[in-house]
Amino acid sequence: MTDTQALLKTLDFQLDIRSDNESLLYDATLEARLAYNETIRLAKQGVDWDAIPDRVAEDANLVKNTTQRVVAKALGAMENYYEYDDFGQPSHTKDGEYPLRANYEEGYNLSLTDDGDVAFRISAKPYKHVKGVLKGSDTHLDILKTALEGEGWKIGTAEALFHNENAELHVNVTNTEQTVRDKQDSRTLIGVDVNEDNVALTALSEGGVEDTLVIDFPEIKFERHRYFTMRKRVQNAGKDSIHDTLEGREERFVRDRLHKVSRHIVEWSRQFERPCIVFEDLKEIRDSIDCGTRMNRRLHHLPFRALQFYTSYKASFEGIPTAWINPEYTSQRCPMCGHTEGANRNKKRLKCKDCGHQDHSDRGASVNIAVKGVKKLDWNVPALNSLPVVRKVRRQASGAVDAPTVTHPTVRGYQADGRMGVSD
Ligand SMILES: [Zn+2]
Repeated sequence: MTDTQALLKTLDFQLDIRSDNESLLYDATLEARLAYNETIRLAKQGVDWDAIPDRVAEDANLVKNTTQRVVAKALGAMENYYEYDDFGQPSHTKDGEYPLRANYEEGYNLSLTDDGDVAFRISAKPYKHVKGVLKGSDTHLDILKTALEGEGWKIGTAEALFHNENAELHVNVTNTEQTVRDKQDSRTLIGVDVNEDNVALTALSEGGVEDTLVIDFPEIKFERHRYFTMRKRVQNAGKDSIHDTLEGREERFVRDRLHKVSRHIVEWSRQFERPCIVFEDLKEIRDSIDCGTRMNRRLHHLPFRALQFYTSYKASFEGIPTAWINPEYTSQRCPMCGHTEGANRNKKRLKCKDCGHQDHSDRGASVNIAVKGVKKLDWNVPALNSLPVVRKVRRQASGAVDAPTVTHPTVRGYQADGRMGVSD
């Protein structure tokens, strides 16, 4: 993930099924669930992962490479669990449908019709197809049509699934022409400090710190806590299926919010000259040093990797590169004089024991992350004599809401129109 950034986009469509066999597709998604569960069950049993695809494919009543895609996704979930513990250990006892994941031109096919529609054909079961046309937003249909005409796009796997009882197809397409700018060719580094209830962003150029923004998202923390409590309650009552449903809802809620926050980060970064987004490589800290309490809390309270991944691929669509730094001491270092000591920090306040500088601690961390990015790219670290006032916005369900903590006139008229340039 660090060096290669595929320009991948997922396009969502509704399926207008015209072959009168919607139930066939539904059955296939139930079959996909069985394949998923079986994979997780075997993996938990300690079966060699290389042997799992064939074992599952033998029993599944699905197109073989479709089963393999579902198995791969299930193993990916296990791998994420071991590596990042994003959403807890995957369950092998859920029921209901699971997305039918298929390879292009194997498990599903698309074609342009004479009417200008995109027709689909999904091999729901071996030799049994579901056919119809795709419905969706103009932008997504537009990209897909361009991709079908072979103009610099490649069509990849797709997932057929039911959302609110409507059949959908989510198609992955990759832009093979657009490139991400070389990191070395950047002029502004955007340090991103991800926390349980906010992200702090700092833009650092040769001239010093250009701007800082803190995006608060208290509802993610709140909802995660709420779902956690509800899940515990039903678990104690022995109701596994409700437990699983709640888990699914929580995951969807959090993912949706993280997508919005990541979009916001990219939008904000775009205003600066040749930006490069810098993240903490949390894997590095897990592997190398003993995690402090703050780091532990951060690792366990938010799917960080998801937010970083969403941001990095959205950025790559804008040609913006991403850099990764070792997170050691980013939260304890004074951004002004560099003095590093655990006692500098007290919750959301940073007060340097050496020079006396006071700061919002997450902003301080985001400055330090940007500074580490500068060092990594081998630039000269600019002398920081003063830092701009921290600007805050709160991200709510309806979008970004201005909650300014500052009243000074803003550079670039950023707050003047009150909408932050974020489109959901
Ligand atoms: Zn200091």
